[in-house]
Amino acid sequence: MAGMKDLARLVRELEDQMVVCMRCGMCQAVCPLYAETGREADVARGKLALLEGLSKEMFRDPKGVSERLNRCLLCGSCAANCPSGVKVLDIFLKARAILAGYMGLSPVKKLILRGILANPAFFDKVTEWAARFQDLFTEPANEVLGTSCARFTTPLLGDRHIKPLALKPFHAELPALETPPGTSGIKVGFFVGCLIDKIFPSVARATLKVLRSHEVGVYLPDNQACCGIPAASSGDMTAFKKLVRHNLDRFPVDRFDVLVTSCATCTSTIRKVWPVLFSDDGSPMGERVRRLSEKTMDIHEFLIRRLGLHPVEAVPSSDAVAVTYHDPCHLKKSLGVFEEPRRLLKSCSGIRLVEMAQSDWCCGLGGSFSLEHYDLSSRVGRRKRDMVAATGAHILTTGCPACMIQFHDRLSQAGDAVQVRHAIEIYAESLGP
Ligand code: SF4
Ligand code: SF4
Repeated sequence: MAGMKDLARLVRELEDQMVVCMRCGMCQAVCPLYAETGREADVARGKLALLEGLSKEMFRDPKGVSERLNRCLLCGSCAANCPSGVKVLDIFLKARAILAGYMGLSPVKKLILRGILANPAFFDKVTEWAARFQDLFTEPANEVLGTSCARFTTPLLGDRHIKPLALKPFHAELPALETPPGTSGIKVGFFVGCLIDKIFPSVARATLKVLRSHEVGVYLPDNQACCGIPAASSGDMTAFKKLVRHNLDRFPVDRFDVLVTSCATCTSTIRKVWPVLFSDDGSPMGERVRRLSEKTMDIHEFLIRRLGLHPVEAVPSSDAVAVTYHDPCHLKKSLGVFEEPRRLLKSCSGIRLVEMAQSDWCCGLGGSFSLEHYDLSSRVGRRKRDMVAATGAHILTTGCPACMIQFHDRLSQAGDAVQVRHAIEIYAESLGP
């Protein structure tokens, strides 16, 4: 449990940040939860009002405050549209750390976050075993999407349709790699991320193919860990800091020019969340975190902004496959990356990009939010599925494996025959064999 002095300091910092909110309510219009529930307590303004009395409320009803605070996708739609620039996500993450520090974590969360996730080699083993035996508990659900559902009624899966774990995770296929910079003169560190490693290894393969094709050198260290977002969003600073330290050791900042990921959530976490949660702990780690986070880029952003690609728009043929693109919150709202994936997609022959209405409306996954509030997560996801269906597209692309998980579930449950792919996979295929 964090010391009372630390908690009091964090509460004071929060109070300083929260006075910026002028209670205008403009966050209501963009909050995907508020759109479903219409509850003021679910929108940023309502949560900030709750937190204003945090120091008193926390001692009176810590469980109630925690429950209300955790009803949030951390999508950042409110922050991106706030006229006063309230740092809503920084406030929510710090508040969760304060509450978890005061109340402690549940035994289940402690086991998952500190016992499994924060021990990367053990996490790899657990998921490798789960992949081997997953067919005993699941059966195919949707052939086009490649999803499975529970064979028996289990509380773990419920009625979810899941994309199964890869039988061979990416780290088993290619544990490590170091190649020199080619004609680009640039070498990138490649941060794979848990979801790409364990569920979507084809995205990692596609990323490497694109980097190789553009003559970019790669530094891929073995034994990479999770970026830490599940721990940070649960307020578990112990597991979060352990994961950050581990990754800092795996990626010595002077070995490469840019740290690249194909996961919008990992990029946003390393670039935005790491510095926020390390900034005020006064440890020597702060400087290392700052240097690595400043070097971190999303793959699409890297190709266009840093490598300087000028993809030429292809003229779609009459038989071009209709493809639509979903903007991950962690890419568009957090990092301002939305043109780059579209420019790459438009350069691919054989497809035509069809925009959906509200392409940046949150998919509703919210990481661990969907585990605790599956009904609410599904309601947000169904709205998004309808937007995809209205385009008539045969392929849904996006830039975040977390969104891909949600789309697999929602499209599969709706019986849709729509493939879900990462934009970099489509671009990689356009580069030939
Ligand atoms: S968080 Fe921003 S948008 Fe929401 S009420 Fe406060 S000032 Fe307005
Ligand atoms: S982060 Fe998203 S879900 Fe949470 S309050 Fe803001 S808009 Fe609503």
